[in-house]
Amino acid sequence: SDSDEGRDCIFCKIIRGDIPSTKVYEDDLTYAFNDAHPKARVHVLVVPKKHYADVNELAQADPSLLAHMVSVAQGIADKVYHGNFRMVFNTGEDAGQSVFHVHAHVLTGEKMA
Ligand code: 5GP
Ligand code: ZN
Repeated sequence: SDSDEGRDCIFCKIIRGDIPSTKVYEDDLTYAFNDAHPKARVHVLVVPKKHYADVNELAQADPSLLAHMVSVAQGIADKVYHGNFRMVFNTGEDAGQSVFHVHAHVLTGEKMA
């Protein structure tokens, strides 16, 4: 169910299908889609369907959901690049977080520097 804070959230809109996205994976708890501005050959965003502002809020509220996001990333990387991936959580404006619905950047599909 949608919280009030999710009503105007761009990633809540993507999860609802109100904004189109290229789905990579979905289950009851998470949605994964291609980043609009990829920084690797494969650049997927993995988000929980429930709205949390950042990874710290998620880790405190539901650590098993955070662990599940890691296994979703692993499953994507297993399919596209023999299980190797980089997972990044930008946390806070000064760290580059621009969307305040927690998302894991999953970078894979190539050998990275
Ligand atoms: P942040 O800067 O918060 O860590 O990452 C936000 C990411 O979301 C950026 O990499 C940006 O390209 C991506 N993004 C922002 N808006 C959209 C959108 O409407 N669709 C998709 N597919 N990606 C988006
Ligand atoms: Zn949201």
